[in-house]
Amino acid sequence: VAFDYLQRLRRAAERTAEAGLDALVVAPGPDLQYLAGYDAPPLERLTALLVAPGVDPIMVVPELERLRAEGSPVGRAVHLEGWSDGDDPYALVRSRLPAGGSFAVSDRMWASHLIALQAGLPEATFGTASAILSPLRARKDQGEIHLLRRAARGADQAFNRISQDGLEGRTEVDVARSLAAYLEEEGHESVAFTIVASGPNGASPHHEPGDRGIRDGDSVVMDFGGRVHGYCSDITRTIVVGPASDEIEEVHDIVRRAQDAAFQAVAPGVPAEEVDRAARSVIEEAGYGDAFVHRTGHGIGLEEHEPPYIVRGNGEPLQEGMCFSLEPGIYLPGKFGVRIEDIVAVTAEGSDRLNHATRDLLAVG
Ligand code: ZN
Ligand code: ZN
Ligand code: ZN
Repeated sequence: VAFDYLQRLRRAAERTAEAGLDALVVAPGPDLQYLAGYDAPPLERLTALLVAPGVDPIMVVPELERLRAEGSPVGRAVHLEGWSDGDDPYALVRSRLPAGGSFAVSDRMWASHLIALQAGLPEATFGTASAILSPLRARKDQGEIHLLRRAARGADQAFNRISQDGLEGRTEVDVARSLAAYLEEEGHESVAFTIVASGPNGASPHHEPGDRGIRDGDSVVMDFGGRVHGYCSDITRTIVVGPASDEIEEVHDIVRRAQDAAFQAVAPGVPAEEVDRAARSVIEEAGYGDAFVHRTGHGIGLEEHEPPYIVRGNGEPLQEGMCFSLEPGIYLPGKFGVRIEDIVAVTAEGSDRLNHATRDLLAVG
């Protein structure tokens, strides 16, 4: 997939001007990857892309990373300004910015870099780049959706394989290791997280897998993901070892219906919080409202969690191209938990699930 980075840079510059700002100061991380396709290491040596209306972008890079920066997709289209160890990179950045200007810096810029920049620009004002870039990054183009779909397919496959393996007698850590290996075998370049929460551990949504042995009658929440060409996967399924108890079956059915209700609610123009409400209503009506302890979902792309957030209070209307998780859950401390999570994309008329692994309650060995 080849992205049109110059177009993205132009649009970012336009939005910067519309917001009345003088420049965007972009740090290594998802913003830089989005705008320049440059996966620079976020380190103590300063790398910064300066995007300003009406001028060509400038990328300030450590001299030892010049070749790497030149080899990036926009390496030849931006002005590269190298600095060597012993130089003051902040003075270099400062010399390219108006002294009393208004700037937006990447949310993920290190505090040490930002504080050094601010010290040299006492008259300037600083805000977060997400105000400018989130609306651009949130609406995925076809190429991005293609990669998210590939990532989702790999995650589906990893789930299919682990559920065929059988879990009884294995530890959570052991299952988590298998999931990580499967994600890589199914096309992921890296694994970001593998939650395996068995029995009562399932009541903790972000449980860290431990050495608990999985036994007959346990429900097991598995939530895992990684990256394919920079784009993230994130799936959750809850399965049961041996036949399910009536209570697990009932709770699983409620969560599944809540997840479906959220999916049915997704369409362009619908406020994000209405999707949260759709899932939450199902769980509340079933009497488990207090046990659904988190928002319904989060945007996904170059970051595992990014806007739009599917949460109460977010009246932002959904737009075609937005991709996010729908992941309602019910958590019963001391007993078990159930969560079901798919990534969906907003289409012109409604929405499309990117995950296709079964949401039925699988009973495995
Ligand atoms: Zn989570
Ligand atoms: Zn997840
Ligand atoms: Zn998630």
